[in-house]
Amino acid sequence: DELISQIAAGEVVERPASVVRELVDNALDAGATQVTVKLLAGGIRQILIEDDGCGIPVDELPLALKRHATSKIRSLDDLEHVLTMGFRGEALAAVSSVAEMAISSRTPDAAHAHRLDARSGELSPAARSQGTSIEVRELFFNTPARRKFLKSEATELAHCLEAVKRHALARPDVGFTVWHEGKLIEQWRAAPLEQRLRDVLGDDFIRDSVAVQLQVGPVRVSGRAGTPDAARSRADHQYCYVNGRYVRDKLLAHGVRSAYEDVLHGNRQPVYALFVEIAPELVDVNVHPTKIEVRFRDGREVHQAARKAVDAALAVSRA
Ligand code: ADP
Ligand code: MG
Repeated sequence: DELISQIAAGEVVERPASVVRELVDNALDAGATQVTVKLLAGGIRQILIEDDGCGIPVDELPLALKRHATSKIRSLDDLEHVLTMGFRGEALAAVSSVAEMAISSRTPDAAHAHRLDARSGELSPAARSQGTSIEVRELFFNTPARRKFLKSEATELAHCLEAVKRHALARPDVGFTVWHEGKLIEQWRAAPLEQRLRDVLGDDFIRDSVAVQLQVGPVRVSGRAGTPDAARSRADHQYCYVNGRYVRDKLLAHGVRSAYEDVLHGNRQPVYALFVEIAPELVDVNVHPTKIEVRFRDGREVHQAARKAVDAALAVSRA
């Protein structure tokens, strides 16, 4: 069973950033308004994520670590309409099979917090306010072959930051703080979307982009998109979300790019942060263990919606 968990973990946990992504997903699913990420050695030595969400009742703490244990869906029908970031019940089990892990949590009505050590199963009283802290230490300590694939601390840190960024863009209503080696390295306070985009992607991004907002059939597209001049071109400023979930989707990317086919030549890329909203039954998010890929029931419809939304925004800005 240990072996099976570790193999499964390989699909979900590739590097510290994967852990950050999964734990922040959980914090957001728990209704957190503030998420704090504390890293040591690019997240390889330690990842500590604290939230002020609903907490985990003490009798459910051991369950949270069980494979395929999720509190978020109860039936196949729920899976068709899933709105939470998580639903597979794999992340905590996976992480705890490849790292040292401890969970401290307190629900609103609990007299104090409880801490569960994943390895020993030992449950002890702990001190913290409402919410959950998850501490992950020495990633891949028991799978040296995988640990060897990790890059430098600086690179792993950059990936961790990128993971937080992706969440921060989608949830401007939540405050995010990132610490590394005891130093505050990012702090994004809750703000309206445009301010959050500015805080995370910079003034240039706002200057280079226009607001996008269009409903095309069942697909709503909003956010900002634009074309920086060659000097500022940043292929990494391309963020797409489907129902609040960061996705990498060729169809969407192509739809956006095609709105710029007259103005962007060669390899020049548009920059964008676009949010697609679509009825959950029209998109399958359960395609990949990390949920970074989705499958649309009608891909063409989504492609056209992305293109038309950006076209419309460009028309407005040129008028
Ligand atoms: P999933 O998110 O797919 O349900 P996870 O393995 O990520 O699976 O988490 C397992 C369960 O642990 C969740 O369903 C949830 O009940 C609980 N949980 C994990 N993290 C938190 C958190 N930060 N706050 C509240 N509950 C949490
Ligand atoms: Mg989860």
